[in-house]
Amino acid sequence: MITQIPELIQNYINGQFHAPARGQYLDNINPATGKVYSQIPNSTVEDVELAVAAAEQAFPEWSKSTPEYRFRIMNRIAELIEEHLDFFALAETNDNGKPLSLSTRVDIPRAAENFRFFAGSMMHFAAESHAMPGRAINYTLRKPIGIVSCISPWNLPLYLFTWKIAPALAAGNCVIAKPSEVTPMTAYLLCHIVKEAGLPDGVLNILHGDGIHCGAAMVEHSKIKAVSFTGSTRAGKDIAVKCAAELKKTSLELGGKNPAIIFEDCDWAKMMKTVVQSSFANQGQICLCGSRILIQESVYEKFKTEFLAEVAKLTVGDPLEKGSKQGAVVSKLHFDKVMSCIAVAKEEGGTILAGGYALQPEGRCAEGYFIVPTVIEGLGPDCKTNMEEIFGPVVTLQSFKDEAEALELANISDYGLAATIWTQDVSRSVRLAEQVNCGIIWVNCWLLRDLRTPFGGVKNSGMGREGGWEALRFFTEPKNVCIEY
Ligand code: NAD
Repeated sequence: MITQIPELIQNYINGQFHAPARGQYLDNINPATGKVYSQIPNSTVEDVELAVAAAEQAFPEWSKSTPEYRFRIMNRIAELIEEHLDFFALAETNDNGKPLSLSTRVDIPRAAENFRFFAGSMMHFAAESHAMPGRAINYTLRKPIGIVSCISPWNLPLYLFTWKIAPALAAGNCVIAKPSEVTPMTAYLLCHIVKEAGLPDGVLNILHGDGIHCGAAMVEHSKIKAVSFTGSTRAGKDIAVKCAAELKKTSLELGGKNPAIIFEDCDWAKMMKTVVQSSFANQGQICLCGSRILIQESVYEKFKTEFLAEVAKLTVGDPLEKGSKQGAVVSKLHFDKVMSCIAVAKEEGGTILAGGYALQPEGRCAEGYFIVPTVIEGLGPDCKTNMEEIFGPVVTLQSFKDEAEALELANISDYGLAATIWTQDVSRSVRLAEQVNCGIIWVNCWLLRDLRTPFGGVKNSGMGREGGWEALRFFTEPKNVCIEY
């Protein structure tokens, strides 16, 4: 394992590091400082071609290996990530701008766990058998698909990258994977680990580059049979069209505009602590963050006062400093987007109750991309601010009278990823959980994840499900065998 953050990243193909075929590189910028600190390949179709050739060669042996063999290697990968946890966490923070404490406590341990979990799941994965009494027996074989593409975003760089790669590998596929070009470093470090863990060459190939060149080539290559994508709804729709034309399997985890629904009877202290997190964790750049806070009108003012007091305690600053609760947003491009969304909210008549402006910390972060946690009220449910994903430290407050209105506001969105419901009334929570049109519902909690459960959204939030056996089903092809006796 390397011990210094490198200034030059390379592609990992067939167990070797490669420069991009066309020699083109992109700048990798630390969003907390605004400074370029490394170069990454901007890979193109030629690099994808090389990776596919390597994967094709590796597939026959890997696909026939036992789940136990694959488990041993993948478990070793998990252990090695854990052994180098601090290094991975620092690399992620440099790329992403999130507080180092968050990378260390959550993102990197969960990335390691993805390998362990899916490798273990594969050993327990079962296929169905259907008897036709007295006549025949059907059984289903689940075979690996072949070569698959995994494309991930920048918000949880290593966690979401491994969330796709791990089930694909565990199921016996060979993988061409691409992290976001905005946060490539942890994926690069992973290459050093997988080699050390004994993953055969060509089984996992990691390319770097942007969506238009590298990502598109990974979707379009005729030998790539399935695409697992997490990212924006815009890119997801483009990928869906291309894959449909070639009959490729797709799993699409896309944007969200998640409601947090707060009733007067909730466990107030727990709700308040959690809603602050679900609004602003990772600077609001988690697809599962609740960006529309819906509050029963009887407790609206009480909520507003207390929430604003808690939000004021979220220190924004250098992500490497222990006291920083909020780091930088991921890039200048994203900073500009979030700031323009705040401007739109003002134009729409919203009142800025907190934040709404950028911050320039002193010292090494003076040119970083920091935005103060922003709380807005006074906007209607169907305005741009409440309908479009912002994906930053910006939330809106809206009030509702009763359960029926809460449901209407929750479901007005074109997105349907996740919702959080805060109430002590069990019957109400069950009723709402059934009717809120989202793929994931949390009642009196947020981000509590059991990896065995299906994960994903409806409407513009995507299609297909990840997690547990859903992921293993996605990455295998069922084949039915019918024997008449
Ligand atoms: P993005 O769509 O810009 O990029 C995601 C990845 O796709 C990157 O690796 C990018 O290079 C690649 N890409 C972009 N266009 C492509 C194309 N046409 N073909 C192939 N690859 C392409 O998204 P982003 O800005 O990196 O991530 C933020 C988005 O991701 C937000 O909308 C957020 O809600 C979403 N997200 C969703 C989930 C989920 O589980 N539903 C999780 C995290 C993030």
